Amino acid sequence: MTKVCKFGGTSMADANAIRQVKSIIQADESRRYVVVSAPGKRFKNDIKVTDTLYRCYDEVVSTGSCKNSFAIIRERFIEIVKDLGLSLDIESVLDKTEEQINKAKSADFSASRGEYLSAIVVSAFLGYEFVDASEIIRFDSHGKLNVDYTDDKVSSKFENLERAVIPGFYGKNFQGDIMTFSRGGSDITGSIIAHGVKADLYENWTDVSGFLVCDPRIVENPKVINQITYKEVRELSYMGASVLHAEAIAPVMRKKIPINIKNTFKPEDRGTMIVPNDQYKADSIITGIAGKKDFTVLLIEKSMMNSEVGFIRRVLSVVEHYGVCVEHLPSGIDTLSVVIDSHQLQEGVLTDMVNEIRENVKPDFIHVIENISLIATVGHGMARRAGTAATLFNALAKANINIKMIDQGSSELNIIIGVANTDYEKCINTIYNAFN
Ligand code: ADP
Ligand code: ASP
Ligand code: MG
Repeated sequence: MTKVCKFGGTSMADANAIRQVKSIIQADESRRYVVVSAPGKRFKNDIKVTDTLYRCYDEVVSTGSCKNSFAIIRERFIEIVKDLGLSLDIESVLDKTEEQINKAKSADFSASRGEYLSAIVVSAFLGYEFVDASEIIRFDSHGKLNVDYTDDKVSSKFENLERAVIPGFYGKNFQGDIMTFSRGGSDITGSIIAHGVKADLYENWTDVSGFLVCDPRIVENPKVINQITYKEVRELSYMGASVLHAEAIAPVMRKKIPINIKNTFKPEDRGTMIVPNDQYKADSIITGIAGKKDFTVLLIEKSMMNSEVGFIRRVLSVVEHYGVCVEHLPSGIDTLSVVIDSHQLQEGVLTDMVNEIRENVKPDFIHVIENISLIATVGHGMARRAGTAATLFNALAKANINIKMIDQGSSELNIIIGVANTDYEKCINTIYNAFN
Protein backbone atom coordinates (compact mmCIF):
# COMPACT_ATOMS: atom_id res chain seq x y z
CA MET A 1 0.00 0.00 0.00
CA THR A 2 1.35 3.40 -1.00
CA LYS A 3 -0.10 6.78 -0.14
CA VAL A 4 1.05 10.16 -1.35
CA CYS A 5 0.29 12.94 1.15
CA LYS A 6 0.21 16.60 0.25
CA PHE A 7 0.19 19.12 3.10
CA GLY A 8 -1.05 22.64 2.37
CA GLY A 9 0.07 26.02 3.65
CA THR A 10 -1.70 26.00 7.03
CA SER A 11 -0.25 22.55 7.72
CA MET A 12 3.21 24.08 7.22
CA ALA A 13 2.54 27.41 8.92
CA ASP A 14 4.57 26.86 12.10
CA ALA A 15 6.40 24.25 14.18
CA ASN A 16 3.23 23.04 15.91
CA ALA A 17 1.54 22.35 12.60
CA ILE A 18 4.65 20.55 11.29
CA ARG A 19 4.75 18.38 14.42
CA GLN A 20 1.14 17.48 13.71
CA VAL A 21 2.17 16.56 10.14
CA LYS A 22 4.86 14.26 11.52
CA SER A 23 2.42 12.46 13.79
CA ILE A 24 0.07 11.92 10.83
CA ILE A 25 2.88 10.49 8.70
CA GLN A 26 4.08 8.24 11.50
CA ALA A 27 0.59 6.93 12.22
CA ASP A 28 0.49 5.04 8.90
CA GLU A 29 3.57 3.51 7.31
CA SER A 30 2.00 3.53 3.85
CA ARG A 31 2.28 7.36 3.88
CA ARG A 32 5.55 7.25 1.98
CA TYR A 33 5.74 10.29 -0.27
CA VAL A 34 5.14 13.70 1.25
CA VAL A 35 4.52 16.80 -0.88
CA VAL A 36 4.63 20.12 0.95
CA SER A 37 3.46 23.68 0.36
CA ALA A 38 5.14 26.85 1.56
CA PRO A 39 4.13 28.04 5.03
CA GLY A 40 0.73 29.73 4.85
CA LYS A 41 -1.14 31.98 7.25
CA ARG A 42 -0.77 31.45 11.02
CA PHE A 43 -3.60 33.85 11.84
CA LYS A 44 -6.22 35.84 9.92
CA ASN A 45 -4.15 38.78 8.70
CA ASP A 46 -0.85 36.94 8.40
CA ILE A 47 0.95 36.89 5.02
CA LYS A 48 1.66 33.64 3.16
CA VAL A 49 5.34 32.95 2.49
CA THR A 50 4.54 32.70 -1.24
CA ASP A 51 3.07 36.21 -1.24
CA THR A 52 6.19 37.56 0.50
CA LEU A 53 8.35 35.81 -2.09
CA TYR A 54 6.49 37.53 -4.92
CA ARG A 55 7.29 40.75 -3.07
CA CYS A 56 10.97 39.70 -2.96
CA TYR A 57 10.87 39.54 -6.74
CA ASP A 58 9.27 43.01 -6.99
CA GLU A 59 11.95 44.36 -4.67
CA VAL A 60 14.72 42.85 -6.81
CA VAL A 61 13.20 44.45 -9.90
CA SER A 62 12.94 47.87 -8.30
CA THR A 63 16.09 47.97 -6.14
CA GLY A 64 18.34 45.13 -7.33
CA SER A 65 18.06 43.24 -4.02
CA CYS A 66 15.31 41.46 -2.04
CA LYS A 67 16.93 42.27 1.30
CA ASN A 68 13.93 43.78 3.13
CA SER A 69 11.26 41.31 2.03
CA PHE A 70 13.58 38.32 2.38
CA ALA A 71 14.20 39.28 6.02
CA ILE A 72 10.59 38.18 6.72
CA ILE A 73 11.18 34.79 5.06
CA ARG A 74 14.43 34.39 6.96
CA GLU A 75 12.81 35.08 10.30
CA ARG A 76 9.95 32.62 9.67
CA PHE A 77 12.15 29.70 8.70
CA ILE A 78 14.69 30.32 11.47
CA GLU A 79 11.86 30.30 13.99
CA ILE A 80 10.39 27.06 12.61
CA VAL A 81 13.76 25.27 12.61
CA LYS A 82 14.54 26.47 16.14
CA ASP A 83 11.10 25.49 17.48
CA LEU A 84 11.43 22.04 15.94
CA GLY A 85 14.82 21.65 17.63
CA LEU A 86 16.55 20.77 14.35
CA SER A 87 20.32 20.98 13.93
CA LEU A 88 19.87 21.90 10.25
CA ASP A 89 22.08 24.84 9.15
CA ILE A 90 19.13 26.82 7.78
CA GLU A 91 21.07 30.12 7.83
CA SER A 92 23.41 28.90 5.08
CA VAL A 93 20.47 27.62 3.01
CA LEU A 94 18.72 30.98 3.42
CA ASP A 95 21.88 32.95 2.49
CA LYS A 96 22.22 30.95 -0.70
CA THR A 97 18.51 31.26 -1.52
CA GLU A 98 18.58 35.05 -1.08
CA GLU A 99 21.57 35.30 -3.37
CA GLN A 100 19.85 33.11 -6.01
CA ILE A 101 16.65 35.19 -5.90
CA ASN A 102 18.69 38.36 -6.49
CA LYS A 103 20.50 36.76 -9.38
CA ALA A 104 17.62 34.94 -11.07
CA LYS A 105 15.35 38.00 -11.37
CA SER A 106 12.46 35.61 -11.96
CA ALA A 107 9.04 35.76 -10.26
CA ASP A 108 8.61 31.99 -10.64
CA PHE A 109 12.01 31.22 -9.17
CA SER A 110 11.41 33.50 -6.21
CA ALA A 111 7.90 32.12 -5.54
CA SER A 112 9.12 28.53 -5.72
CA ARG A 113 11.53 28.95 -2.82
CA GLY A 114 8.77 28.71 -0.20
CA GLU A 115 8.07 25.10 -1.13
CA TYR A 116 11.80 24.40 -1.54
CA LEU A 117 12.61 25.62 1.99
CA SER A 118 9.55 23.88 3.48
CA ALA A 119 10.63 20.57 1.96
CA ILE A 120 14.22 20.96 3.23
CA VAL A 121 12.89 21.49 6.77
CA VAL A 122 10.31 18.68 6.65
CA SER A 123 12.77 16.18 5.17
CA ALA A 124 15.20 16.92 8.03
CA PHE A 125 12.41 16.62 10.59
CA LEU A 126 11.04 13.33 9.23
CA GLY A 127 14.45 11.90 8.30
CA TYR A 128 13.21 11.28 4.72
CA GLU A 129 15.21 12.01 1.59
CA PHE A 130 14.61 15.39 -0.09
CA VAL A 131 13.82 15.10 -3.81
CA ASP A 132 13.86 18.42 -5.65
CA ALA A 133 10.78 18.90 -7.85
CA SER A 134 13.03 20.48 -10.49
CA GLU A 135 14.56 17.04 -11.08
CA ILE A 136 11.26 15.36 -11.90
CA ILE A 137 8.68 17.90 -13.06
CA ARG A 138 9.26 19.28 -16.54
CA PHE A 139 7.50 22.13 -18.37
CA ASP A 140 7.73 22.97 -22.06
CA SER A 141 8.67 26.45 -23.24
CA HIS A 142 5.04 27.65 -22.96
CA GLY A 143 4.89 26.61 -19.32
CA LYS A 144 2.74 23.56 -20.08
CA LEU A 145 3.51 20.39 -18.16
CA ASN A 146 5.29 17.78 -20.28
CA VAL A 147 3.31 14.81 -19.07
CA ASP A 148 5.32 11.97 -20.66
CA TYR A 149 8.73 13.26 -19.64
CA THR A 150 7.51 13.98 -16.11
CA ASP A 151 5.87 10.54 -15.75
CA ASP A 152 9.11 8.81 -16.76
CA LYS A 153 11.19 10.90 -14.38
CA VAL A 154 8.83 10.43 -11.45
CA SER A 155 8.50 6.68 -11.81
CA SER A 156 12.23 6.07 -12.27
CA LYS A 157 13.16 8.40 -9.41
CA PHE A 158 10.92 6.70 -6.86
CA GLU A 159 11.30 3.13 -8.05
CA ASN A 160 14.00 2.46 -5.50
CA LEU A 161 13.23 5.17 -3.03
CA GLU A 162 11.04 3.99 -0.17
CA ARG A 163 10.20 7.43 1.29
CA ALA A 164 10.75 11.04 0.29
CA VAL A 165 9.73 14.65 0.76
CA ILE A 166 9.05 16.69 -2.39
CA PRO A 167 8.37 20.44 -2.65
CA GLY A 168 5.09 21.26 -4.41
CA PHE A 169 4.19 24.05 -6.85
CA TYR A 170 7.20 24.09 -9.19
CA GLY A 171 9.34 22.28 -11.73
CA LYS A 172 11.82 23.20 -14.43
CA ASN A 173 11.62 23.84 -18.18
CA PHE A 174 13.95 22.36 -20.80
CA GLN A 175 16.10 25.50 -20.67
CA GLY A 176 16.74 24.81 -16.99
CA ASP A 177 14.63 27.64 -15.58
CA ILE A 178 12.39 27.08 -12.58
CA MET A 179 8.69 27.52 -13.39
CA THR A 180 5.64 27.28 -11.15
CA PHE A 181 2.09 26.10 -11.64
CA SER A 182 -0.64 28.68 -10.97
CA ARG A 183 -1.50 29.53 -7.36
CA GLY A 184 -2.49 26.56 -5.24
CA GLY A 185 -0.43 24.35 -7.57
CA SER A 186 1.07 22.07 -4.90
CA ASP A 187 -2.16 20.07 -5.25
CA ILE A 188 -1.08 19.32 -8.85
CA THR A 189 2.39 18.19 -7.75
CA GLY A 190 0.81 15.75 -5.29
CA SER A 191 -1.39 14.34 -8.00
CA ILE A 192 1.52 13.93 -10.43
CA ILE A 193 3.56 12.07 -7.80
CA ALA A 194 0.57 9.87 -6.90
CA HIS A 195 0.20 8.93 -10.56
CA GLY A 196 3.94 8.33 -11.03
CA VAL A 197 4.38 6.03 -8.02
CA LYS A 198 1.04 4.26 -8.77
CA ALA A 199 -0.27 5.22 -5.36
CA ASP A 200 -3.34 3.53 -3.91
CA LEU A 201 -4.51 6.83 -2.47
CA TYR A 202 -3.69 10.53 -2.76
CA GLU A 203 -4.30 12.20 0.60
CA ASN A 204 -4.65 15.97 0.39
CA TRP A 205 -4.29 17.41 3.91
CA THR A 206 -5.66 20.89 4.51
CA ASP A 207 -7.37 23.03 7.17
CA VAL A 208 -10.99 21.93 6.66
CA SER A 209 -12.55 18.48 7.18
CA GLY A 210 -13.12 17.81 3.50
CA PHE A 211 -14.73 19.27 0.43
CA LEU A 212 -17.69 21.20 1.82
CA VAL A 213 -20.98 21.74 0.00
CA CYS A 214 -19.99 25.41 -0.32
CA ASP A 215 -17.28 27.83 0.70
CA PRO A 216 -17.26 28.07 4.52
CA ARG A 217 -16.38 31.75 4.22
CA ILE A 218 -19.79 32.35 2.60
CA VAL A 219 -22.11 29.83 4.25
CA GLU A 220 -21.76 29.17 7.96
CA ASN A 221 -20.83 25.59 8.73
CA PRO A 222 -21.71 23.91 5.43
CA LYS A 223 -21.99 20.12 5.37
CA VAL A 224 -19.03 17.96 4.38
CA ILE A 225 -19.42 16.07 1.08
CA ASN A 226 -18.69 12.42 1.89
CA GLN A 227 -18.14 11.31 -1.67
CA ILE A 228 -17.82 13.21 -4.93
CA THR A 229 -16.68 12.36 -8.47
CA TYR A 230 -13.61 13.72 -10.24
CA LYS A 231 -15.88 15.50 -12.72
CA GLU A 232 -17.93 17.23 -10.04
CA VAL A 233 -14.76 18.40 -8.31
CA ARG A 234 -13.41 19.81 -11.55
CA GLU A 235 -16.59 21.81 -12.07
CA LEU A 236 -16.57 23.09 -8.48
CA SER A 237 -12.83 23.85 -8.32
CA TYR A 238 -12.90 25.62 -11.65
CA MET A 239 -15.84 27.69 -10.42
CA GLY A 240 -13.99 28.81 -7.32
CA ALA A 241 -13.97 26.06 -4.68
CA SER A 242 -10.34 26.72 -3.85
CA VAL A 243 -9.86 23.69 -1.60
CA LEU A 244 -8.39 21.70 -4.50
CA HIS A 245 -6.76 23.05 -7.69
CA ALA A 246 -8.91 22.17 -10.74
CA GLU A 247 -5.85 20.77 -12.54
CA ALA A 248 -5.08 18.35 -9.72
CA ILE A 249 -7.70 15.92 -11.01
CA ALA A 250 -6.24 14.98 -14.40
CA PRO A 251 -3.10 13.08 -13.27
CA VAL A 252 -4.81 10.77 -10.72
CA MET A 253 -7.83 10.34 -12.97
CA ARG A 254 -5.70 8.49 -15.51
CA LYS A 255 -5.10 5.69 -12.99
CA LYS A 256 -8.39 6.08 -11.09
CA ILE A 257 -6.52 6.85 -7.88
CA PRO A 258 -8.97 8.27 -5.33
CA ILE A 259 -8.21 11.52 -3.51
CA ASN A 260 -9.04 11.88 0.17
CA ILE A 261 -9.32 15.49 1.39
CA LYS A 262 -8.39 15.45 5.09
CA ASN A 263 -8.01 17.94 7.93
CA THR A 264 -4.49 18.09 9.43
CA PHE A 265 -5.92 19.49 12.64
CA LYS A 266 -8.72 16.89 12.94
CA PRO A 267 -7.13 13.78 11.42
CA GLU A 268 -9.85 11.55 12.89
CA ASP A 269 -12.48 13.16 10.60
CA ARG A 270 -13.15 11.04 7.51
CA GLY A 271 -12.98 13.91 5.08
CA THR A 272 -14.10 13.65 1.45
CA MET A 273 -13.37 10.83 -1.00
CA ILE A 274 -13.03 11.94 -4.61
CA VAL A 275 -13.66 8.93 -6.85
CA PRO A 276 -14.26 7.91 -10.47
CA ASN A 277 -17.86 7.79 -11.72
CA ASP A 278 -18.06 4.00 -11.56
CA GLN A 279 -17.25 3.93 -7.83
CA TYR A 280 -19.75 6.62 -6.94
CA LYS A 281 -23.16 6.53 -5.32
CA ALA A 282 -24.98 9.86 -5.14
CA ASP A 283 -26.48 10.37 -1.69
CA SER A 284 -27.95 13.83 -2.24
CA ILE A 285 -29.63 15.77 -5.06
CA ILE A 286 -26.92 18.34 -5.38
CA THR A 287 -23.30 17.76 -4.46
CA GLY A 288 -21.90 21.26 -4.16
CA ILE A 289 -22.17 24.95 -4.97
CA ALA A 290 -19.35 27.27 -5.99
CA GLY A 291 -19.04 30.63 -7.63
CA LYS A 292 -16.91 33.49 -8.83
CA LYS A 293 -17.48 37.21 -9.04
CA ASP A 294 -16.68 39.76 -11.73
CA PHE A 295 -17.87 38.62 -15.13
CA THR A 296 -19.14 40.65 -18.06
CA VAL A 297 -21.96 39.34 -20.24
CA LEU A 298 -22.52 40.51 -23.83
CA LEU A 299 -26.14 39.70 -24.54
CA ILE A 300 -26.59 39.67 -28.31
CA GLU A 301 -30.02 39.50 -29.86
CA LYS A 302 -30.97 39.11 -33.51
CA SER A 303 -34.14 37.61 -34.87
CA MET A 304 -33.54 34.52 -37.03
CA MET A 305 -29.99 34.34 -35.64
CA ASN A 306 -30.25 30.57 -35.80
CA SER A 307 -30.63 30.45 -39.55
CA GLU A 308 -27.71 32.78 -40.25
CA VAL A 309 -24.73 30.63 -41.23
CA GLY A 310 -21.54 31.49 -39.31
CA PHE A 311 -23.16 33.93 -36.87
CA ILE A 312 -21.56 32.55 -33.70
CA ARG A 313 -18.22 32.07 -35.43
CA ARG A 314 -18.17 35.72 -36.50
CA VAL A 315 -18.95 36.90 -32.97
CA LEU A 316 -16.27 34.67 -31.51
CA SER A 317 -13.64 35.68 -34.04
CA VAL A 318 -14.03 39.29 -32.89
CA VAL A 319 -13.57 38.20 -29.27
CA GLU A 320 -10.55 36.11 -30.29
CA HIS A 321 -9.05 39.05 -32.15
CA TYR A 322 -8.89 40.88 -28.79
CA GLY A 323 -7.12 37.90 -27.19
CA VAL A 324 -10.03 37.35 -24.82
CA CYS A 325 -11.19 33.90 -23.61
CA VAL A 326 -14.88 33.07 -23.46
CA GLU A 327 -15.99 31.44 -20.22
CA HIS A 328 -19.54 30.40 -21.20
CA LEU A 329 -21.75 30.72 -24.22
CA PRO A 330 -25.39 30.12 -23.39
CA SER A 331 -27.70 30.61 -26.35
CA GLY A 332 -31.38 30.65 -27.32
CA ILE A 333 -33.10 30.80 -30.70
CA ASP A 334 -32.52 34.51 -31.13
CA THR A 335 -30.04 35.26 -28.37
CA LEU A 336 -26.43 34.56 -27.58
CA SER A 337 -24.68 35.49 -24.34
CA VAL A 338 -20.92 35.77 -24.35
CA VAL A 339 -19.63 35.50 -20.79
CA ILE A 340 -16.15 36.90 -20.15
CA ASP A 341 -14.02 37.18 -17.02
CA SER A 342 -13.91 40.97 -16.49
CA HIS A 343 -10.25 40.89 -15.42
CA GLN A 344 -9.39 40.17 -19.05
CA LEU A 345 -10.93 43.39 -20.29
CA GLN A 346 -8.39 46.16 -20.14
CA GLU A 347 -9.48 49.80 -20.33
CA GLY A 348 -11.25 50.50 -23.64
CA VAL A 349 -11.26 46.92 -24.92
CA LEU A 350 -14.93 46.33 -24.14
CA THR A 351 -16.18 49.31 -26.12
CA ASP A 352 -13.99 48.50 -29.13
CA MET A 353 -14.99 44.86 -29.05
CA VAL A 354 -18.72 45.61 -28.84
CA ASN A 355 -18.46 48.09 -31.74
CA GLU A 356 -16.67 45.54 -33.86
CA ILE A 357 -19.30 42.86 -33.09
CA ARG A 358 -21.99 45.38 -34.08
CA GLU A 359 -20.29 46.00 -37.43
CA ASN A 360 -19.63 42.32 -38.07
CA VAL A 361 -22.96 40.68 -37.31
CA LYS A 362 -25.43 43.60 -37.32
CA PRO A 363 -27.43 42.40 -34.30
CA ASP A 364 -30.81 43.87 -33.32
CA PHE A 365 -29.10 44.90 -30.14
CA ILE A 366 -26.19 44.16 -27.83
CA HIS A 367 -26.62 44.67 -24.15
CA VAL A 368 -23.51 44.75 -21.93
CA ILE A 369 -24.10 43.55 -18.37
CA GLU A 370 -21.19 44.10 -16.01
CA ASN A 371 -20.44 43.04 -12.40
CA ILE A 372 -21.98 39.61 -12.77
CA SER A 373 -21.26 36.62 -10.53
CA LEU A 374 -21.50 33.09 -11.84
CA ILE A 375 -22.74 30.43 -9.46
CA ALA A 376 -22.60 26.74 -10.31
CA THR A 377 -24.83 24.16 -8.67
CA VAL A 378 -23.25 20.79 -9.36
CA GLY A 379 -24.33 17.21 -8.87
CA HIS A 380 -24.71 13.88 -10.68
CA GLY A 381 -27.84 13.38 -8.60
CA MET A 382 -29.58 16.25 -10.43
CA ALA A 383 -29.96 14.33 -13.67
CA ARG A 384 -32.11 11.60 -12.20
CA ARG A 385 -34.42 13.88 -10.26
CA ALA A 386 -37.19 15.95 -11.79
CA GLY A 387 -37.69 19.40 -10.36
CA THR A 388 -34.15 20.26 -9.26
CA ALA A 389 -34.13 23.35 -11.43
CA ALA A 390 -37.62 24.28 -10.20
CA THR A 391 -36.48 24.06 -6.55
CA LEU A 392 -33.49 26.23 -7.32
CA PHE A 393 -35.33 28.91 -9.28
CA ASN A 394 -38.28 29.01 -6.85
CA ALA A 395 -35.95 29.55 -3.92
CA LEU A 396 -34.17 32.38 -5.73
CA ALA A 397 -37.46 34.00 -6.73
CA LYS A 398 -38.69 33.85 -3.14
CA ALA A 399 -35.45 35.49 -2.00
CA ASN A 400 -35.98 38.25 -4.59
CA ILE A 401 -32.79 37.45 -6.46
CA ASN A 402 -32.85 38.52 -10.06
CA ILE A 403 -31.31 35.89 -12.38
CA LYS A 404 -29.56 37.57 -15.27
CA MET A 405 -28.39 34.48 -17.12
CA ILE A 406 -28.88 30.72 -17.08
CA ASP A 407 -26.59 28.10 -18.57
CA GLN A 408 -27.50 24.48 -18.08
CA GLY A 409 -24.78 22.45 -19.73
CA SER A 410 -25.95 19.39 -21.61
CA SER A 411 -24.10 17.17 -19.11
CA GLU A 412 -26.92 17.72 -16.57
CA LEU A 413 -24.16 17.86 -14.00
CA ASN A 414 -24.25 21.58 -13.66
CA ILE A 415 -26.64 24.54 -13.63
CA ILE A 416 -24.84 27.87 -13.87
CA ILE A 417 -26.65 31.10 -13.17
CA GLY A 418 -25.52 34.71 -13.41
CA VAL A 419 -26.57 37.22 -10.76
CA ALA A 420 -25.41 40.70 -9.76
CA ASN A 421 -22.20 40.72 -7.71
CA THR A 422 -24.18 42.30 -4.88
CA ASP A 423 -26.42 39.19 -4.71
CA TYR A 424 -23.52 36.72 -4.72
CA GLU A 425 -23.39 35.70 -1.05
CA LYS A 426 -27.16 35.78 -0.62
CA CYS A 427 -27.60 33.61 -3.70
CA ILE A 428 -25.19 30.89 -2.52
CA ASN A 429 -26.84 30.84 0.91
CA THR A 430 -30.29 30.60 -0.68
CA ILE A 431 -29.34 27.66 -2.91
CA TYR A 432 -27.63 25.89 0.00
CA ASN A 433 -30.70 26.26 2.21
CA ALA A 434 -33.04 25.14 -0.58
CA PHE A 435 -31.31 21.75 -0.80
CA ASN A 436 -30.20 21.20 2.80
P1 ADP B 1 -4.14 24.54 1.51
O1 ADP B 1 -3.21 25.65 1.87
O2 ADP B 1 -4.18 23.45 2.53
O3 ADP B 1 -3.93 24.06 0.12
P2 ADP B 1 -6.37 26.17 0.67
O4 ADP B 1 -6.44 27.47 1.38
O5 ADP B 1 -5.83 26.15 -0.70
O6 ADP B 1 -5.61 25.15 1.62
O7 ADP B 1 -7.81 25.48 0.62
C1 ADP B 1 -8.57 25.30 1.80
C2 ADP B 1 -9.55 26.45 1.96
O8 ADP B 1 -10.44 26.46 0.85
C3 ADP B 1 -10.46 26.34 3.15
O9 ADP B 1 -9.85 26.84 4.31
C4 ADP B 1 -11.68 27.14 2.72
O10 ADP B 1 -11.63 28.44 3.25
C5 ADP B 1 -11.58 27.24 1.21
N1 ADP B 1 -12.74 26.69 0.50
C6 ADP B 1 -13.43 27.31 -0.49
N2 ADP B 1 -14.42 26.54 -0.93
C7 ADP B 1 -14.38 25.40 -0.21
C8 ADP B 1 -15.17 24.21 -0.20
N3 ADP B 1 -16.20 24.02 -1.03
N4 ADP B 1 -14.85 23.24 0.69
C9 ADP B 1 -13.82 23.40 1.53
N5 ADP B 1 -13.04 24.50 1.57
C10 ADP B 1 -13.32 25.49 0.72
N1 ASP C 1 2.41 28.15 -2.13
C1 ASP C 1 1.69 28.23 -3.36
C2 ASP C 1 0.54 29.21 -3.21
O1 ASP C 1 0.41 29.87 -2.20
C3 ASP C 1 1.24 26.89 -3.85
C4 ASP C 1 0.35 26.11 -2.92
O2 ASP C 1 0.26 26.42 -1.72
O3 ASP C 1 -0.26 25.14 -3.37
O4 ASP C 1 -0.21 29.39 -4.14
MG1 MG D 1 -4.45 24.93 -1.72
